[in-house]
Amino acid sequence: MRALVFKDFGSVELADVPKPVIEEPRDAVIRVTTTAICGSDLHLVNGRVPGMTPGSTLGHEFIGVVEETSADVTRFSPGDRVVGSFTIPCGTCWFCQRGLYSRCPDQRSFGGGSFVGDVQGAQAEYVRVPNADLTLHGVDPSLTDEQALFVGDIFTTGYECAGAARIEAGEVVAVIGCGPVGLMAIQAARTFEPRTIYAVDTVSQRLEMAQTFGAIPVDAAAVHVPSHIQDATGGRGADAVLECVGLVPALTDAIDIVRAGGRISVIGLHTDPDFDLPLQLCFIRGLDVKFNGLANINGKWDEALALITSGHAHPDQIISHRMRLDDAVMGYELFERKEALKVVLTP
Ligand SMILES: [Zn+2]
Ligand SMILES: [Zn+2]
Repeated sequence: MRALVFKDFGSVELADVPKPVIEEPRDAVIRVTTTAICGSDLHLVNGRVPGMTPGSTLGHEFIGVVEETSADVTRFSPGDRVVGSFTIPCGTCWFCQRGLYSRCPDQRSFGGGSFVGDVQGAQAEYVRVPNADLTLHGVDPSLTDEQALFVGDIFTTGYECAGAARIEAGEVVAVIGCGPVGLMAIQAARTFEPRTIYAVDTVSQRLEMAQTFGAIPVDAAAVHVPSHIQDATGGRGADAVLECVGLVPALTDAIDIVRAGGRISVIGLHTDPDFDLPLQLCFIRGLDVKFNGLANINGKWDEALALITSGHAHPDQIISHRMRLDDAVMGYELFERKEALKVVLTP
């Protein structure tokens, strides 16, 4: 079958790989109908997140139809339409028993390399899904593939980030970083009915999209963001800041933007080992900083899907490019150059 595979640092290629088969007792094999390229695929290709083996299939955002299940899969049967989560929790540990799936020490991921279980990815015609009862979610027939696809990763991630910020009606929210997760966080934040959402980025296409989602764009290349937000809030700062970048300057900005007693919810993937925390300032101002780590997709996707089914969120609006899987290499190039906001692929 055709699959998009890691070739070497900085490069991917389309390859012919073996069709997956059932390997473990709780596996299912899914025929992929729609998949997508994620920012974390770029981190893997570029080596920011290590562990990829040449020839291994990338991709962890997918929706499709169950092709085959092993005997221990009880919730799904061949022919069922399903969306996958990017994480594969073990389902049995202390954390999983309490629904804290993203804290599972034995969780794996699709197409994420040797540090996350070496499970082949979903940018392919078929994907093997371990622990299928937990890793798959049924899809309401009223939803298209594109509408439901992102509950397996970026939309539920943005939803968890917004939820962790405990946004109340009438508040001022700032979202730092308007990549796909930041844009999803804006959509999710809106469901809590804040008065204003400021969307911070430097890429005009992303700021325009944020504006169509109801946020006020703030171009970080044109203004000093903390001063801008302070000025816009009577010198107080934002009630809640969603940090969706994962770099030290973004976290520094979040601390400078949030009001005294406000909340910072961090979902950007931080890989720097440490950071100079302005301890006295954080203490005196009573800041509440929540590091979310990987999102709890499997624990939250019921809620996230309900927002989409009820029409309160439209994650498919971020799709900028639709391509055949055969053209996935071009999709990676466009995404790398930030010319594509979100690329979906059909095998
Ligand atoms: Zn992802
Ligand atoms: Zn577990």
